[in-house]
Amino acid sequence: MAGPISFLGVPLKRPKVAFFEFTACEGCQLQILNNEHTLIGFLNLVEIVNFREAMTERSDDYEIAFVEGSISRSDEVERLLEIRRNARILIAFGSCACFGGVNQLKNRFADLDWVTKEVYGDFPVETDEVHPIADYVAVDLNIYGCPVKKEEVEQIVTNLVVGKSVKIPDFPVCMECKAKENICLFELGEPCLGPVTRAGCDAWCPSNRRGCWGCRGPAGVVNMDQLEEIFNNYGFKNVELIDRLECFGGFTDFTSKLRTKAACEQRKTEGRS
Ligand code: SF4
Ligand code: SF4
Repeated sequence: MAGPISFLGVPLKRPKVAFFEFTACEGCQLQILNNEHTLIGFLNLVEIVNFREAMTERSDDYEIAFVEGSISRSDEVERLLEIRRNARILIAFGSCACFGGVNQLKNRFADLDWVTKEVYGDFPVETDEVHPIADYVAVDLNIYGCPVKKEEVEQIVTNLVVGKSVKIPDFPVCMECKAKENICLFELGEPCLGPVTRAGCDAWCPSNRRGCWGCRGPAGVVNMDQLEEIFNNYGFKNVELIDRLECFGGFTDFTSKLRTKAACEQRKTEGRS
């Protein structure tokens, strides 16, 4: 592959990078491979020693570990701990790793044995409650998104290689949406979590006329009361708001109050008060 690289005349070391996947669809790793027009440049910047989707070679000698996926089995915990021991920098790669992702939706069911039976029938597999990787190991950096945005990943890796600090936005998606001069989706009859979700995706969904589902988790400041008011003013119920907030697992700290309110509303509707 590539020879020595330099930045402003200063020789740079190509860090050894490894990609790992746990409970996930592997869509975040695929994002990296999908980026054909910049893939060669990216590969010149780092030395990839583990990337099951792309190569057969394996090595435990790496400095940066990208960990994709949530943890849902005991053997995954063991493997994750080993990766943490080997890596100098461990990156939670995508919503599954950062928050549990769509996988954590199964935690909403009280009886996990029932869930396992429903999904796997007579082929029993071990599958426990789903957790983000930070519940087991120290995480140095989160890269958000479902999937991650490849341009953002490349920018972050470039910064790591040249020794620049990494800045992840903490303002809401609404700001990027407004900068793109989109019409607010609420005005078009579509609910959206843009007011409370962390930006950085360049308002990917709203720019394609889809409401945000919060895959990048909460922005630095979240005004949930205001969001609830917006939803209600545009005719959306709290259950619809909760559905969105729970989709990727980033808003679990914000939903319990809304859940209690939604249950009261439901009882009133059913005349049980
Ligand atoms: S974050 Fe989304 S795209 Fe990435 S592995 Fe999880 S489900 Fe797939
Ligand atoms: S708009 Fe929302 S759901 Fe869509 S990519 Fe951005 S943060 Fe994720």
